[in-house]
Amino acid sequence: MVMEKLGDSLQGALKKLIGSGRIDERTVNEVVKDIQRALLQADVNVKLVMGMSQRIKERAMKEEPPAGMNPREHVIRIVYQELMEIIGKGAEIQLKPQTIMMVGLQGSGKTTSTAKLARYFQRKGLKAGVIAADTFRPGAYHQLKTLCEKLNVAFYGEEGNPDAIEITRNGLKVLDKYDIKIVDTAGRHALEAELIEEMEQINAVAKPDHRFMVLDAGIGQQASQQAHAFNDSVGITGVIITKLDGTAKGGGALSAVSETKAPIAFIGVGETPEDFEKFEADRFISRLLGMGDLKSLMEKAEESLSEEDVNVEALMQGRFTLKDMYKQLEAMNKMGPLKQIMSMLPMGMGGMGGMKLSDEMFQATSDKMKNYKFIMDSMTEQEMIDPKLIGGSRIKRISRGSGCSPEDVRELLKYHKTMQTALKGFRGGKFNIQKMMKKK
Ligand code: GDP
Repeated sequence: MVMEKLGDSLQGALKKLIGSGRIDERTVNEVVKDIQRALLQADVNVKLVMGMSQRIKERAMKEEPPAGMNPREHVIRIVYQELMEIIGKGAEIQLKPQTIMMVGLQGSGKTTSTAKLARYFQRKGLKAGVIAADTFRPGAYHQLKTLCEKLNVAFYGEEGNPDAIEITRNGLKVLDKYDIKIVDTAGRHALEAELIEEMEQINAVAKPDHRFMVLDAGIGQQASQQAHAFNDSVGITGVIITKLDGTAKGGGALSAVSETKAPIAFIGVGETPEDFEKFEADRFISRLLGMGDLKSLMEKAEESLSEEDVNVEALMQGRFTLKDMYKQLEAMNKMGPLKQIMSMLPMGMGGMGGMKLSDEMFQATSDKMKNYKFIMDSMTEQEMIDPKLIGGSRIKRISRGSGCSPEDVRELLKYHKTMQTALKGFRGGKFNIQKMMKKK
């Protein structure tokens, strides 16, 4: 298993939690100490670990478990959420025609990952081709060619031609009809001027949709410097972390990359083309914690939400008043950071069926919530049910009454409208909202 040692230690910590009679401060402290040790051994940055420990302790003692969740499950859920924070959400990979440029230092696993990535898209039904533009490392051309032949992936290369830019240009023409074009570029031992220049030139010619940086997990926390350096020179849209199967420092690499804000896109977990996974933080962490049923735990939280706080009936009939919205926001806030739980909520199914909801919708922090409450308290019952009634003069009145600015009032109304529109889309018959609510 990938990162077996970390997984074992984390699971050991949680077992203690599950086995303990009562969940009190002492138990939580003990469990947090074990988690700390596990993460530090996996090379996760001390500061990150300390911050996380503190938050787990505080949340475990202060936050009330959501309805239907016992205190043990509640603490496990907090650990899970905090690990998610450390590791980041992961890059969004779209299954559509695109050009991808691979960058990274020599030996990072770039060529291997190029073939693995082509294979990944091919399995999803997209035709993939690769371009061998690593003219620096002598074996790269043949290595990639052989891999592609094995995988039945189209290959373009010009053996003996040292001009990587020309090869890229020609390759893109030849592979024009392919959905996915992946350019394997040269690495060096370090990020030197020559390498940067070549990357920039290939970048200009290929105009890739993605620039994936390949990183060896074995470098642990140093991943952060490398990711920063590459990001500064060409702009990284995703990171592929390789060799997670063979290092104890995986936690360091994953968390360090996440901190740079370059999202993790894929992970390499072995030498064969199959040992490659799209990085999905929730699944990764569930596996690490050995909790196959973590999903159901999340679902449980979501169910308690839907029954108590969300008027599903009304939503399904398209009645989504400001009152409903307030209830929903309040419920979401109770559950923790919005971003983390948006996928559990009916209005949070971002990305499904093209109904992507904008980021700003999820930025309703508790501060905003307070404002929203004041604003809504200054509205009449009728206005809450039918916000269309609220025009310019009413906005002024509500603003004065609530002590919030007219912009705040407008923002609230806009927020409501966007959500209403989104919900209408879901009602369109194509989706079953209740079924979707069950979906994590
Ligand atoms: P490049 O110089 O960056 O193109 O590196 P290569 O693709 O040639 O990879 C260097 C070595 O790492 C090769 O022996 C690969 O088989 C190995 N490698 C790449 N990815 C992984 C991985 O995820 N796990 C393991 N165990 N080995 C890997």
